[in-house]
Amino acid sequence: MPFAAETPRPATQVAPRTPPAGEAGAPASPRADVVLAVEALTKRYGSLVAVDGISFEVRRGETFGILGPNGAGKTTTLEMIEGLRKPDAGRITLLSLDAVRRRRAVQDRIGVQLQSQALWPELTVEETLKTFRALFKKRVSLETLLERFALTEKRRSLVCDLSGGQKQRLSVATALVNDPEVVFLDEPTTGLDPQARRSFWDLIHDMSREGKTVIVTTHYMEEAEALCERVAIMDRGRIMAMDSPREL
Ligand code: ATP
Repeated sequence: MPFAAETPRPATQVAPRTPPAGEAGAPASPRADVVLAVEALTKRYGSLVAVDGISFEVRRGETFGILGPNGAGKTTTLEMIEGLRKPDAGRITLLSLDAVRRRRAVQDRIGVQLQSQALWPELTVEETLKTFRALFKKRVSLETLLERFALTEKRRSLVCDLSGGQKQRLSVATALVNDPEVVFLDEPTTGLDPQARRSFWDLIHDMSREGKTVIVTTHYMEEAEALCERVAIMDRGRIMAMDSPREL
C-alpha cells in the first residue's frame, strides 16, 4: 500500500530549484536533482580522525549505500548529516538547506532510523508509533504504518516482547511517521536471518518506488548490490571508491 500522509505536502516542502536570495544556509549545489551534497566533511574524536574530509552527492530518488567494516566512520557520517553530531569541518547541504544551520527545517523532512535498542522496552508498538508521530505536523496514519510493517497483530505488544525482526521493522516504521523525503537507515538488517533480511529489502525497495531517497549503511556487499544504485566504500574515515555495485 502506498504511503499517504494525512496532511497534504505543502508547497514549501518541495526542494526549490533555485534558493531564495539571501536565505541563511542557501544551497551550495545549484543542481535540482541533488538531494544531499557532502563536502570535505570531517569529524575528530581526540586524536582519532573518524571521518576524514569526505565528499559525495546523492540524487533525488536514489538509494545510496555506505559500505565498510567496523569503525570505518559510517555511523559518524550519517549522524552528522542527520544533525545528531556536529562536524569539525566541511559542509552538508540537505534538501537545499545547510543541514547544520537549518537543522530544525531539515528534520521535518527526513526520517532517521534509531537503533532498535533505542526504543522504549515498556511501550507497546502502538504507543511507540504514536509517540514518534506526535513530534511532527505531517503524519502517516497509524494503521498504514502498522500494516506496512506487518505489525498490526503486534500493536498491543510491548517492545521488549518483540522478536529481533519485529523490533527492526518498528524502528524503521518510526523513521517513516512523517512521510520523509529522505530516509537514513543505519545497518538496518544487522542481526536478521536471511529471510527477514530479504523481506526488509522489499520494504526498502517500496520506499524507493515511492520516490524517497534512501541512504543506508551496511557491512554487506550483497545488501549494497541488492538495494543500491551507487555505493561509497568507506575505510578509516575515507571514501576508497564510489560507483554502482556492478562497477565496484
Ligand atoms: P560500525 O560498523 O561498527 O558501526 P562505523 O563505520 O559506523 O562502525 P563509527 O561508529 O562511525 O564507525 O566509528 C568511527 C570511529 O570513531 C571508530 O574508531 C570509533 O571507535 C570512533 N568513535 C565513534 N564514536 C565515538 C565517540 N563518541 N567517541 C570517541 N570515538 C568514537
